[in-house]
Amino acid sequence: MERNKVLEINHVKKHFEVGKGARLKAVDNVSFHINEGETFGLVGESGCGKSTTGRLIMRLYQPTEGEVLYKGKNIHLLNKSEQFAFNRKIQMIFQDPYASLNPRSTVQEIISEPMEVHGLFKNKEERRQRVYELLEDVGLNREHANRYPHEFSGGQRQRIGIARSLALDPEFIIADEPISALDVSVQAQVVNLLKKLQKEKKLTFLFIAHDLSMVKHISDRIGVMYLGHLVELTSSSNLYKNPLHPYTQALLSAIPIPDPEIEDKRERIILKGEIPSPINPPSGCVFRTRCPAASDICQSKIPEWREIEEEHFVACHLYNNHPGMNKEALLTKGS
Ligand code: SF4
Repeated sequence: MERNKVLEINHVKKHFEVGKGARLKAVDNVSFHINEGETFGLVGESGCGKSTTGRLIMRLYQPTEGEVLYKGKNIHLLNKSEQFAFNRKIQMIFQDPYASLNPRSTVQEIISEPMEVHGLFKNKEERRQRVYELLEDVGLNREHANRYPHEFSGGQRQRIGIARSLALDPEFIIADEPISALDVSVQAQVVNLLKKLQKEKKLTFLFIAHDLSMVKHISDRIGVMYLGHLVELTSSSNLYKNPLHPYTQALLSAIPIPDPEIEDKRERIILKGEIPSPINPPSGCVFRTRCPAASDICQSKIPEWREIEEEHFVACHLYNNHPGMNKEALLTKGS
């Protein structure tokens, strides 16, 4: 079934000038789309460009090249009133629930502030009732409205952040590492809450994360980024069953399996070295300095972004049938 594309990122680059003529290539020629009502997971190690991509969609950054379309409109060319309407439709949940809430404001003030800015509801009392509803939506209650952020646990603060993101009745939510600052015990609860809210409110989600473990449980499709490039994109189930890019395989092999017998026998892909600097990325394939399957062509030629099987895209010379490429060099498939 053909689904509506709500967001399209077309050949987007975001380069930052960092002095002496050097440029940091945070996002480099990235293209993907997100369908209405789906959760799209964007995954990669720190510095891969996933959060910069989120900020480009929020219009916090202008792209250096390329375009970001929301419902067919270039979001970086909106007029003032279109910008105001767009800001209401797209909201963000931040990584750090400690830093993202004003410590001097009550929960009531934090959640009702965006409603005041956007002129929603006639008076304070109506906004108060809406805050109570939102608190209940995220598993808190009205007694929490007059408290301050420091009176809550990390998981509860993230629930407050989620309630604030819902205050304007958005269509699209960017969740930027929303669980990575939380205890493992509460991460699943927050993921389940996001899934429940998505279903109830028919939201579209971009879920940004640095590992593949939790993303699996929430995403319909997943894009994997490395050093500013998208390297693989497919459905969540296919990515786990049949990861093609060596980097995706390494990320998957790092996820522990809760069965000690399988875990003991499993072969891990240990990546060599650190991520290179995005100011001076490797020539050819940006992953080549850490790739267990790299060969000569990887140094001289940028791999093309190709659809290898239906809805499964990858950028790697292993799948372009270049002579000299050795698929056997890969240690294992993901679990
Ligand atoms: Fe590895 Fe070469 Fe594929 Fe890059 S193009 S991921 S270096 S095999």
